[in-house]
Amino acid sequence: MADDIPNIEELSTIVHSPPKTPWMDTPTVIRKGMFCHPANPKSLDYLSMPYGRKWAPMEEDWKLPENWVEIISDGLRDRLTRFRSLRIFMDCCVRCGACADKCHFFIGTGDPKNMPVLRAELLRSVYRKDYTLAGKLLGRMVGARPLTYDVLKEWWYYFFQCSECRRCSVYCPYGIDTAEITIIGRELLNLIGLNIDWIATPAANCFRTGNHLGIQPHAFKDMIDFFCDEIEDVTGVRVNPSFNRKGAEILFVTPSGDVFADPGTYTAMGYLILFHYLESQGLDITWSTYASEGGNFGLFTSHEMMKRLNAKMYAESKRLGTKWILGGECGHMWRVIHQYMDTMNGPADHLELPKSPITGTVFQNAASTKMVHITEFTADLLRHNKLKIDKSRNDHQILSFHDSCNPSRGMGLLEEPREVIKGVCNHFFEMPEKTIREHTFCCGSGSGLNAGENMELRLRGGLPRANAFKHVHETHGVNTLATVCAIDRAALPTALDYWVPGMRVTGVHELVANALILDGENERTTDLRGEPLAGMEEEE
Ligand code: SF4
Ligand code: SF4
Repeated sequence: MADDIPNIEELSTIVHSPPKTPWMDTPTVIRKGMFCHPANPKSLDYLSMPYGRKWAPMEEDWKLPENWVEIISDGLRDRLTRFRSLRIFMDCCVRCGACADKCHFFIGTGDPKNMPVLRAELLRSVYRKDYTLAGKLLGRMVGARPLTYDVLKEWWYYFFQCSECRRCSVYCPYGIDTAEITIIGRELLNLIGLNIDWIATPAANCFRTGNHLGIQPHAFKDMIDFFCDEIEDVTGVRVNPSFNRKGAEILFVTPSGDVFADPGTYTAMGYLILFHYLESQGLDITWSTYASEGGNFGLFTSHEMMKRLNAKMYAESKRLGTKWILGGECGHMWRVIHQYMDTMNGPADHLELPKSPITGTVFQNAASTKMVHITEFTADLLRHNKLKIDKSRNDHQILSFHDSCNPSRGMGLLEEPREVIKGVCNHFFEMPEKTIREHTFCCGSGSGLNAGENMELRLRGGLPRANAFKHVHETHGVNTLATVCAIDRAALPTALDYWVPGMRVTGVHELVANALILDGENERTTDLRGEPLAGMEEEE
């Protein structure tokens, strides 16, 4: 972790009392550690996004196009026409404050502009000035203000301090979804080239090579071949996945974080072991080296970009002639699939209603998207007793489960991951009720914020999650946090290391693979990470 991160005492001292000045008069101070680097102009150019240039957030001059006010005003007018939800969200907030203390960034920073109600107000105040009679006539008296350079900077700073997690929307009596307001806020900023690089470059890479890291097809395959070697070392069994195989029944798509970043790599090994196990029972599945990314950084950019990036996996399923898609453990992939895909690129009529070739279960919930989450698939296998499991191989881990914001709030995936964990592990404890399921706290790094330069923001935002985990660590000895999202797997080790050092983060299918008994396997002495199983410490 970077040396300039404040120590734990400093970050734990959070003042939640509001400043003395009204919010419009409280200047926004853009502070190092709380924002990500601006987008690389090359990445914006690659995506045909306008006004790619070098600029610096701490400098006075952001090198805006001359007519930036006009561009944003036109952009807002256009979106108010196209998105009825935006107009409703702009008009119907009653400022009841139910959402105010629900955002992990407000809890962790104490900054009132991180209250969801105020985050929305940043945009709503400008809307009010131009689109409401009261705002036009009475201005500030009714919370209206013009779009100035300072307001624009405030937008950039705070719209990129929202992880679009939607926790606030669970508590809003009117269903106002501040994440949707953030999406629109970012769309407007993108019209004048104000993005962050942690979003723009992965989006550009994904558009070019099929995954966020810009890995080319042969390197993607090499990495999976490497996992096959690792699996053989641990289990004695050789797995042989297929790639880009035309006519396979199922296309498998997972986030590239599972393939290229620890500890997600162990989750990828988990998928490979499970698929190998099921081969003899009729599983006919292929990986694609082209649709090599489930994640969709378009969600963090604009509706248009989300649509463009989502199209790829469906185009690949068409090219290969598969019948349906099985999706790995990913966060925003699933929110895009469930909330947006149908109106953007769907329905996926070239595919068939997914049916498990092992159990015969028909996944009616995927009737339109034709895409099944792997925990739905594996939970179904466990329910039908199709897996030979030795739970004790996970006994060195005492687990809790972090509901990733997008699969839990975006698609209601609450039970299946728990069913799978309990089906393959002996020791499981829930974190406090108001911090799990649809109330789950964000990892603090979603929505394109998982960079190094904004570490203070990430750690502050990760505090509520880490705090709930610390509770079960102290009361039940929990030492492992399972999750079904690649950004969580990348972000949570850092947050936990800071707030609750020494803990482990895992994907659910890493646990499945540890427990799965393969035909012809060696006696296992270690887990997939090469760490000794309970009772095997001496033999290592
Ligand atoms: S969507 Fe999440 S990060 Fe954004 S304001 Fe709401 S609670 Fe905060
Ligand atoms: S809970 Fe909803 S209505 Fe109440 S302040 Fe927040 S956004 Fe407005």
